[in-house]
Amino acid sequence: MAEDQLSTFVSLCRRRGFLFGGSELYGGLSSIWDYGPLGAKMKKRIKDIWWDEYVEKREDIVGLDSSIIMHEDVFRASGHLEGFNDVLVDCPKCKRRFRIDKIEKFGTNLYRCPDCKTEIDTRQQKPRTFNLMFKTNMSAIEETPVYGYLRPETAQGIFVNFMNVLNTTHKKIPFGIAQIGKAFRNEVTTGSFIFRMKEFEQMEIEYFVRPEEAMSAYEHWVKNRLQFYLEHMGIEESNLRLREHGPDELAHYAKACTDIEFRFPFGWSELEGVAHRADFDLREHGRVSKKDLSYFDSVKEERFVPNVIEPSSGVDRTFFAVLCNAYRKEEVKGRPRVYLKLKDTLAPFRAAVFPLLKKEPQLVELAKNIFYDIKKSMPAVYDDTASIGKLYRRQDEIGTPFCITVDMESLSDRKVTVRDRDSMAQERVEIDRVEEYLSERRK
Ligand code: ATP
Repeated sequence: MAEDQLSTFVSLCRRRGFLFGGSELYGGLSSIWDYGPLGAKMKKRIKDIWWDEYVEKREDIVGLDSSIIMHEDVFRASGHLEGFNDVLVDCPKCKRRFRIDKIEKFGTNLYRCPDCKTEIDTRQQKPRTFNLMFKTNMSAIEETPVYGYLRPETAQGIFVNFMNVLNTTHKKIPFGIAQIGKAFRNEVTTGSFIFRMKEFEQMEIEYFVRPEEAMSAYEHWVKNRLQFYLEHMGIEESNLRLREHGPDELAHYAKACTDIEFRFPFGWSELEGVAHRADFDLREHGRVSKKDLSYFDSVKEERFVPNVIEPSSGVDRTFFAVLCNAYRKEEVKGRPRVYLKLKDTLAPFRAAVFPLLKKEPQLVELAKNIFYDIKKSMPAVYDDTASIGKLYRRQDEIGTPFCITVDMESLSDRKVTVRDRDSMAQERVEIDRVEEYLSERRK
């Protein structure tokens, strides 16, 4: 999708009920979004597919659902208290605040405000360090606060439960723990729709391996995760690429990291990071908690701290990428047509049913009966609130693969018109064969 189509795309998402601005009724909150009826359905599909693929289908990965608020020491051990910071600077003229690493620099101390283009001299405008974590007081008494933090990534919930999971599941290394959940970062660079939010969702796996097997496991996971986007999310190969981090970009403990990037309307950006984190996390949690988080290999009679490979994906960025990838705009008989070429496993509905004339009770009854039947086996929607042309346009814009129209002839020939979203081809299909017809043409 081209950059100039982004605002039309965002308005489609709002108009059709994929996303709404957070607390919009009261003027909204920056970088907070709510998923509407269709967005909630599609987001759940993405999470279900991921969970099914990694937790349900595999024997070597188990699931977890850990809490969002966590102990301060968790983040002392993980390094987030010390190091999860952005360095910010204020523009002296327009008073807006920016991440210093994201704005233009010229000369030794001079930066330029991206908005009003004023020079920012860091000898006068001192940059300030700002921790991205949301801190919250968990004490009932204000004078004696007890602080907890909203997790900035789901991963820490996995590390602190490593021993609990190991002891209750009796898994042997290599094995993984997978989790889907909310994470919170008080991001300063905002905008770009749902790409960077303060409240977002992640799908993360921590895969624990023997140190000597870590590099090959890392390489495996990079390939596996790329394949997931191609196969299960229907993202085209030309919209995805791998970007390996150079040594200057790697966290000090990480051995390797590859970003899976998507061609967003504003350019190539990270969709997921796959990192080889060595033994950093378990070692540090072991040190700060003073608990032994090592693993005993009973075959080799050897104790060691496992290495970990972390494929860390954003649900919202995946959602955004899937929609961008599916967005199509074309001209049909001199008029623009917009449709979403979504996989049917991701589309909010797999079929829509309409009566051609809503004033004909027999048609409405037949259409509703067909709808109730279809709905037993797939997500479907019934609509009779507009003319047929508008109903088709509505379903195209939300990516419904097939529309089924019931007309006067249907009453006598027991056939309906099935229209294909992508080709717009229409075919008469016997009512009794509709489900079979749709399942033979899965997208
Ligand atoms: P970026 O460099 O874009 O800020 P990151 O490297 O900080 O991302 P990670 O900490 O690796 O991101 O988080 C893993 C994944 O979580 C990212 O690839 C992204 O999909 C998602 N994610 C991270 N921060 C946000 C955010 N603020 N809003 C939405 N998704 C996010």
